[in-house]
Amino acid sequence: MPDDTLPTVNAADSTPPCAPDCGGPRVRAIPPGEDRERLMCPDCGYIAYQNPLIVVGAVATWEDGRILLCRRAIEPRKGFWTLPAGYMEERESTRDGAAREAWEEARARIAIDHLLAIYDIPRISQVQMIFRARLLSPEVEPGPESLEVGLFAWEEIPWPELAFPTVVWALREHRERLGHDDCAPAVNPTPDALARWERML
Ligand SMILES: [Zn+2]
Repeated sequence: MPDDTLPTVNAADSTPPCAPDCGGPRVRAIPPGEDRERLMCPDCGYIAYQNPLIVVGAVATWEDGRILLCRRAIEPRKGFWTLPAGYMEERESTRDGAAREAWEEARARIAIDHLLAIYDIPRISQVQMIFRARLLSPEVEPGPESLEVGLFAWEEIPWPELAFPTVVWALREHRERLGHDDCAPAVNPTPDALARWERML
């Protein structure tokens, strides 16, 4: 069933989906040949597909190993700390998207190294792709979506004030893979890994 955490209708491009005299997609029905309800225009048959969105982000470090975190100026989880990350834009690569988000949220210029983790979040129809990256300069400042930004040594990370579980996961994977740049990307942690990380707090 749809719920309010799902993204809004994601038309593939800016072409109007319907004829000018259509009422627009407003009826939920199972299209011919499909197996689930879609939002459809009953006038022309246009189907407004809703598919998961991809979030791209980075664990970006300076030469001394400190990690870039941003304190959110927007909901959800306003006031909590996160990695620079956000929704991919159309006609953008995942790496370019991660670099763009670092610039938008922290005015940070970064070089993407490799994919650290892919997280499935089916509850909210998201896939998160988190890269490892190097800061090209330690000079960072808050963008419009951040209250403040900063570089944190491992011991300084504000664990109770992190915004989302995947931020914790990505930071832990980054730490466990230091010196191992050729690992396959991490995926959602196992219960054993979560329990191990919990004991480290
Ligand atoms: Zn229509």
